[in-house]
Amino acid sequence: VTAEELANDAINKINANEKKLNTFITVNDKAPEAAKKIDEDGIKGPLSGIPIAFKDNIVTNGIKTTAASKILYNFMPVYSATVLERLEAAGAVDIGKTNLDEFAMGSSTETSYFDTTVNPWDLSRVPGGSSGGSAAAVAAGEVVAALGTDTGGSIRQPAAFNGIFGIKPTYGRVSRWGVIAFASSLDQVGVLSKRVEDSATVLSAMAGHDEHDSTSSEKPVPDYRANLSKDMSGVRIAVPKEFWHEGTHPEVLENVNKALDAYKKMGATVDEVSLPSLKHAVEVYYVLASSEASSNLQRYDGVRYGFRAKDVKNIKDLFVKSRSEGFGDEVKRRIMLGTFALSAGAYDAYFKKAAEVRTLFINEMNDVLKDHDLIMGPSTTTPAFKIGEKVDDPLAMYMNDILTIPANLAGLPAASVPAGLADGLPVGLQIIGRPFDEQSVFNAAYALQ
Ligand code: GLN
Repeated sequence: VTAEELANDAINKINANEKKLNTFITVNDKAPEAAKKIDEDGIKGPLSGIPIAFKDNIVTNGIKTTAASKILYNFMPVYSATVLERLEAAGAVDIGKTNLDEFAMGSSTETSYFDTTVNPWDLSRVPGGSSGGSAAAVAAGEVVAALGTDTGGSIRQPAAFNGIFGIKPTYGRVSRWGVIAFASSLDQVGVLSKRVEDSATVLSAMAGHDEHDSTSSEKPVPDYRANLSKDMSGVRIAVPKEFWHEGTHPEVLENVNKALDAYKKMGATVDEVSLPSLKHAVEVYYVLASSEASSNLQRYDGVRYGFRAKDVKNIKDLFVKSRSEGFGDEVKRRIMLGTFALSAGAYDAYFKKAAEVRTLFINEMNDVLKDHDLIMGPSTTTPAFKIGEKVDDPLAMYMNDILTIPANLAGLPAASVPAGLADGLPVGLQIIGRPFDEQSVFNAAYALQ
C-alpha cells in the first residue's frame, strides 16, 4: 500500500468514529498530501508512511494546538515539537491532534474544553486521561501509534483502560521542546500502540539529546525494536506490597497475579518489597505538580497568544478576564493550589516538605532497583470508570493516580501492558524499570504480549 492510501484510510476511520468517540480535536487534512510526497520522494525511514496521532499539547507548525483549553482554542504554532520533527524525519505522517484533559490535568479527558472522549470498549465509560484521545484512537484502530504525555500517569492509565500498550520513558530520554508544559520536573512524552514492537520503533526514532531541552540526556539511544527479547530468565521482579492498594478490584489483583506467575514460569523471580512512602505519593505529587503548573501557566495572559477577553477596562482587567474566562475549573483549582503552596507563608510547610518527601521516595524506589531489574504491580486499581462518576469529586479523581505517580516522582521508565479483563473491561499490568533501561520494560511487556 502507498502512504497516501494509509493516510486516507486513517482519516476515513477517524471520520466514521468521530461522532461517537471524539478522539481528535483536529484532523490534519494535509496528511494525504504529506503522505503522497513520501510516496514520491521515498523517505526510507523506519516509519515511512505510517500515520501517527499527536496529543494536542504537542505543538505542530501550522496545525492548531489547543492543549484542550479555551485559552488556546485558536493557537497556531509557528514551529514544531522536536518529537514531531524527528518522527517526520523517520517518515511518519501526522494524522492529527488528539483530545486530552485541559493542559493534561485530569484522568478521564472530561476536563477537555472540546468535550470528553469515550472509551471504545464501553461507550458509557471514560477512556482515562489525560492522553485519553490518543489511547482511544489506537484502541479503535484509527492509528497504529499515538504520542501521549505522562506527568502522573497520563499514558499508562489510559493505555490500561483501553487495553493497549503505553510507555512513559525515563525523565530526560525524550525532548520536551515544543511540549506544552504542565509540571516540568515530571512531564515526559511517550507512545501508545497495540503492539509493543510499534512503540519500540517510535521511541527509538524520537528519543535522544536535543540542544533545545537541557534536561534531555546525551545517552545514546538503543534500537529498542531490534533488541526486543522475550527471555525473562533470571529477571528479578519486585512487587511493592503497597501496590495492593485497598479498593483494588479483585479481578485486577487476579490478573496481575496471573501475569506474575507467567513470568515465574519464564524463569523470572518475584519478590515482595516495601515502599513505605508510597502512602504520601498522591499528596506530594499534587503539591509539586500544581506548584509547577501555577508557574508554567503564568504565560497565558491574553496578550501573547490564544484567547483574549473582550470589553476590558485596562491591562490588569485583560489578564484577569482572559484567564477567568479562558481556563476551566480543574486548571484554576491547580493554579490556586500551586500558588498557595509556593506563597511565602506556605512554602516551607507545603512545597518544601513535598520536595523532601519526593527525595525520600526516590531513594526508596532506587533502593528496590539496586537488587531488582523491574518493579511491577497493577497500572490502576480498577478498570475504566463511568463518564461523570468522579467529575464532581476531585479527590477521588486524584486518588486514581496512586499507582502511576511513583514512576514520575522518581523519573523512572514505566509502561502499562494489557493483562486480562475485569468486569469485561481491560486491565493493565504496570512495569517500572531502572533509569534509561526502557529495553527491559519493553522486553517484559513483549514477553507477555
Ligand atoms: N491525572 C494526573 C493529573 O491530573 C496525571 C496527569 C498527567 O499525567 N498529565 O495530574
